[in-house]
Amino acid sequence: MVELRVHFLGTGGGRFVMVTQRRRTAGIRILYGDRLNLHLDPGPGALIFSNWARLSPQRLDAVLVSHSHPDHYCDAEVLIEAMSRGTTQRRGLLVAPRSVLRGNDVCGPAISGYHQGLVERVVEVSPGEEVELGELSIAATGAQHSDPDTVGFRIGTPDLGDLAYTSDTALFEGIEEYYRGVRILILCTMRPRGAPLPLHLSVEDAVRLVEEVRPGCVFITHFGMRMLNAGPEEEARWMEEETGVPTVATVDGMQVLIGERVEVRGRGKRAEPRFIEA
Ligand SMILES: [Zn+2]
Ligand SMILES: [Zn+2]
Repeated sequence: MVELRVHFLGTGGGRFVMVTQRRRTAGIRILYGDRLNLHLDPGPGALIFSNWARLSPQRLDAVLVSHSHPDHYCDAEVLIEAMSRGTTQRRGLLVAPRSVLRGNDVCGPAISGYHQGLVERVVEVSPGEEVELGELSIAATGAQHSDPDTVGFRIGTPDLGDLAYTSDTALFEGIEEYYRGVRILILCTMRPRGAPLPLHLSVEDAVRLVEEVRPGCVFITHFGMRMLNAGPEEEARWMEEETGVPTVATVDGMQVLIGERVEVRGRGKRAEPRFIEA
């Protein structure tokens, strides 16, 4: 059976965590067996920490960028140079909304025309639109954020269920429709309990979304300073108690193996894995 592997190369988010690198901001690498290799939201550090984790960016088949804020796009161009084998081949897929590719009134574009030209397939997505990549489907989900073109992503597999990533978003009417039936839900939960920030998910928002969607398991990531000060593990424990859905606070370097069950490996070889029946 093919496994889906998710590497949390970075788990920090927002300006202050990004500029201090209190947590890394390298994004998420997703491998579907040895068949497909995707990088999701390559913020600053994506190039360095891909190589550090021995996940060569030259093996990438796709780069997915959710919106035009630097903690999500900063290393996209260098990953594209790697994906195109040092610009010698037109290779790979780039999936992103309008702001990233063409810009809008408030931000972007985030990837130069030159770099877009190095990619074999550039697909501009709006919420609800879907792209095929081999056996995987990549659908854009809706978001409400200060970049009005922001999307999340829902990756469908033939045999392992769906994995989805919200990106930065407010909790809004109808958001749950994009995530119904997902097995793995990755939430950009920037703020802890009692400290909401407009246009981002707080832990209370995350609980409401999880209660609506009832995924198999939840990973919280993209932590801001307030969240790191509150303690993501403690917040995840509270979420799990409230919702009854297994909830994991990610750490930099965490690997998740998704097969018949879900295995969560923390940082370092000695960390005890957690097995989740999901
Ligand atoms: Zn962000
Ligand atoms: Zn943002």
